[in-house]
Amino acid sequence: MHALVYHGPGRRSWEQVPNPALQRATDAIVKVDAVTICGTDLHILKGDVPEVQPGRILGHEAVGTVTEVGTAVEKVAVGDRVLISCISACGSCRYCRDGQYGQCLGGGGWILGHLIDGTQAEYVRVPFADNSTHTIPPGVSDEQMVMLADILPTSYEVGVLNGRVRPGDVVAIVGAGPIGLAAVLTSRLYSPAHVVVIDVAAARLEAARKLGADVVVDASAQDPRAVIDQLTAGLGADVAMEAVGLPDTFEQAVRLTRPGGHVANIGVHGAPATLHLEDVWIKNLTITTGLVDTHSTPTLMGLVAGHQIDTSSMITHRFGFDEFDLAYDVFSQPADTGALKVLLTAPVHAETEAGS
Ligand SMILES: [Zn+2]
Ligand SMILES: [Zn+2]
Repeated sequence: MHALVYHGPGRRSWEQVPNPALQRATDAIVKVDAVTICGTDLHILKGDVPEVQPGRILGHEAVGTVTEVGTAVEKVAVGDRVLISCISACGSCRYCRDGQYGQCLGGGGWILGHLIDGTQAEYVRVPFADNSTHTIPPGVSDEQMVMLADILPTSYEVGVLNGRVRPGDVVAIVGAGPIGLAAVLTSRLYSPAHVVVIDVAAARLEAARKLGADVVVDASAQDPRAVIDQLTAGLGADVAMEAVGLPDTFEQAVRLTRPGGHVANIGVHGAPATLHLEDVWIKNLTITTGLVDTHSTPTLMGLVAGHQIDTSSMITHRFGFDEFDLAYDVFSQPADTGALKVLLTAPVHAETEAGS
């Protein structure tokens, strides 16, 4: 089969590799039908995630069809159309028993495209298949569903639920990349008074408007705090979400939040940020961090199937598997290409390459 292989910082290629095989009785093999590229994959390619070894197949978000199951797999069957979650779950460790699958101690957590071969391939081995996949309801498209492998549950759990968004809140979202935009979509579920999105890229602010932000702020031209002050009589946002992963944007999210409010960090950080405790010790702030657990995936699938959330407008570019290199180029240059999420789909009549 072919797969997107990481060869060390700055080096990747779509190349011929052996097909995956079942390793444990709880594994399944899934033929990948649709897959996307994540900002985290770009971090890996920059060398920011050193535990990813050269030779690793990248990718942790996909929709596919089960082709093989181990003898201990009970719920997933050959032929099932499944969502492959970015988080695998052993199902029985202390954290899994608490629904915190992202922290799994039993060999799960974020492992696909990280510690084991991932989904940017024609076939992928999925460990703990019963706990790590979701059967897709009829009538829901692959492209709607693939947004639920990572970005929707991440923004919803780590942004909206950790941030405790409530009806009537003023929600500030710093960063209008895919995660920030997914936070706009999922904040709307709680009927906030205002969703304010802050970025410096005009195309991304326009996308935020389309997805339901009623106020957008170009931080290169306007002071976000002044905009929030106007909406809140000088108090500050009830909830601020950081969806960039830089020290400045984290510190900005803290500055935008009212006393008693919530700061929910979603961004993946590679450098220390300053918490100005000398300012905020007195402000009753709650600051949360998190890796997605994907406990909300069934809820989000219901919302998509019931047409309460439409994720399809987040996909700006579509490619075939043989265009993987181009898809990476487009996704990694969003300022030039306007890319939000890119979708790669398998050829409909792909020949099965048994054991090659
Ligand atoms: Zn991801
Ligand atoms: Zn576990």
